[in-house]
Amino acid sequence: MKIDGHCHCGEIAFEAEVDPNALTICHCRHAFCGNCGTPIYACAVDNPQVYALRVGTITQRAAFKPQRQGWRRSALAWVNALAAVPASEKGWS
Ligand SMILES: [Zn+2]
Repeated sequence: MKIDGHCHCGEIAFEAEVDPNALTICHCRHAFCGNCGTPIYACAVDNPQVYALRVGTITQRAAFKPQRQGWRRSALAWVNALAAVPASEKGWS
């Protein structure tokens, strides 16, 4: 599936060919846009061969569903109870 996306300010934009069934939840730290701070991707520090894109930056993100999780040992304890946390449909009110 061909996708595209960008950070909040538009300084960084990308296009990629991805497997929708390979979506994972990763709890490691990620690269950020130097202008607006949007997390964009994570990769190996030296000679990266694979880039893990942040789903929130992908225009077609509704087509993806997580298939597995990575770096689970770094996940915060509240991740398991996330569905029970009060939520708003838009904004923080
Ligand atoms: Zn930006």
